[in-house]
Amino acid sequence: MIRLRSAAVAGLTALALTGLMAPAEAALPTSERGPVCAPQTAAGAAAKGDARAPGEVDHRDVSATEQRAIDDRTSALLARKGGGGKPLQGITVPVYVHVMAAADGTGDVTDAQVTQQVAVLNNTFAGGESSGAADTGFRFTLAGLDRFYNDTWHNDRSSSTYRKATRQGGADALNIWLVDFNYLGVATFPWDFDKKDGIDGIRVQYSSLPGGTEKNYNLGETATHEAGHWFGLFHTFQGGCNEPGDEISDTPAQSVATNGCPAGQDSCVDQPGLDPIHNYMDYSYDSCYWEFSPGQSVRMADMWTAYRS
Ligand SMILES: [Zn+2]
Repeated sequence: MIRLRSAAVAGLTALALTGLMAPAEAALPTSERGPVCAPQTAAGAAAKGDARAPGEVDHRDVSATEQRAIDDRTSALLARKGGGGKPLQGITVPVYVHVMAAADGTGDVTDAQVTQQVAVLNNTFAGGESSGAADTGFRFTLAGLDRFYNDTWHNDRSSSTYRKATRQGGADALNIWLVDFNYLGVATFPWDFDKKDGIDGIRVQYSSLPGGTEKNYNLGETATHEAGHWFGLFHTFQGGCNEPGDEISDTPAQSVATNGCPAGQDSCVDQPGLDPIHNYMDYSYDSCYWEFSPGQSVRMADMWTAYRS
């Protein structure tokens, strides 16, 4: 899913999205495109809010019908492989970080930032930011780090090409490409791996890493959000107030993507619970992010067993 950076106007966002899609990827049906997570910049909060409003094309749209089809496939895989329904323990995910810097060195993040980013993944997936957060059982280790100095790749152009050329590991390997684009991040879903294993992984705005320059989004939690999609999570506002929503029973229904950290926000007043604005799968500021829920932890485990183990 796309976590947006800012865009001047909603129209520009849609345009940017179209432009960012590599031909090979754009040619895929909507249902096979990766999730996208959204942008931020010049125009400021209002435009950003617009860009994240329901109906805007800021991330891959997965319909309720497709959700049911994915569920059926997942259930069949779990029945065949065994397991499911509870969190996993002791899974260490190899992480391959690809620094796609510009020819002049822009975007060439430091080794220390990469180390800190992996530490943020470990802390957030361990539930380290809140006493109520779930320990998902997933841990991460840096398995590889490479650097490229190519303006085209730095700007996320020809992304299918560069991903296929640089991706490492199997279905269980998290590949992170650090680029400069109009989004904070874009991810592929686990159920698409067999169709697009060459491009499986997440693309992350390089300035969102710990110590980066992305205001309000520089604690490294964009990577946590994108990794959540990579493990099979939807946004907490998936499907609005109606079932099946994000298919997670312990994240209250939510109909709008959060901007900032609005305490008490309740966008589905007829459904129980306030909006889960502290959940990593909302669009809140990094400083507002605290947790994955226990239900999300189980879903990620099920998806792991079905598609990545
Ligand atoms: Zn997202």
